Amino acid sequence: MRRGRSELSEGPPSLGTMTAMVQTDPTTDGSAAAVAPAEEAAPRRPSLSPSRAADFKTCPLLYRYRTIDRLPERESLAAVRGTLVHSVLERLYDLPPAQRTPESALELVEPAWAELRDEPGIAELFETGQEDGAESDANAPESVAAWLASAGKLVEKYFALEDPRRIQPAGREELVEVTLPDGLLLRGYVDRLDVAPNGALRVVDYKTGSMPREAFESKALFQMKFYALVLWRTRGVVAAQLKLLYLGDGDALTYAPEEAELVRFERTLLAIWSAIERAVATGEFRPNKSRLCGWCDHQALCPEFGGTPPPFPADAAAAAGWRTTLPVTPV
Ligand code: SF4
Repeated sequence: MRRGRSELSEGPPSLGTMTAMVQTDPTTDGSAAAVAPAEEAAPRRPSLSPSRAADFKTCPLLYRYRTIDRLPERESLAAVRGTLVHSVLERLYDLPPAQRTPESALELVEPAWAELRDEPGIAELFETGQEDGAESDANAPESVAAWLASAGKLVEKYFALEDPRRIQPAGREELVEVTLPDGLLLRGYVDRLDVAPNGALRVVDYKTGSMPREAFESKALFQMKFYALVLWRTRGVVAAQLKLLYLGDGDALTYAPEEAELVRFERTLLAIWSAIERAVATGEFRPNKSRLCGWCDHQALCPEFGGTPPPFPADAAAAAGWRTTLPVTPV
């Protein structure tokens, strides 16, 4: 599995001019891939995912550091817990419908954790100096057991939102991707895809936080519209429902996109992509200071915080398939 969840009006998608694919993540094995799409599944040419598009919108320099420089970032307990919960919910649907109970789901926490804890960077989050394996983060729960229990509570919350015995997903942790006519490759991982007998699509995403305030709903739906656009472009069907399940507070946000909206959203993505390509061509990625800087791992290299960005890695960008006007060392 993986890990790591808008606007123009034109005619229908010209499916014949596009390459399109929907496939199951080949790494789907119930392990910890919820942190980021598996690297081995990464495309050999630049592409746009919902999270990278959101990065660029938030701060172009952040996008550069994550996508071009590929600078390492710290894991966080919250992110790892999200990965764990996603893994449990994915495994839950391996069980026969009648066995998809809260008790069975909680029993899946330990095996999911057993696979996850050996992933790079995760062990460092936990100190084993204390007998019970207490964590080094002063804000963290007092023990791994307590941390696992907090993940279990999120899993239990899921059952207040849906009855998994009545759902048979068509896809879980599914890679969806499409190449638009102008060559832009869109790709992302859908937590769950449901297909009704009449062919209606429902895209479901699990969030371990709480539902955002109304003013931030459009930001939350950006990722879901991205998936809806790819599915529309690949299947010719506009998803009947986009559903965000917030396990933090047991709330749900649903949305029914319209075709004209997806056409507009596609234009938005193309505009973002053009801006990214211009930035890569010149190596100019401006910082954009916001309250999100507090969570950024790259303040030491950010002019907004007195840092100096390293030279733009034009060689690495060119090797990854980007076009740049900057000097590149011949291979
Ligand atoms: S600290 Fe803020 S402005 Fe600087 S790179 Fe990070 S997100 Fe961008």
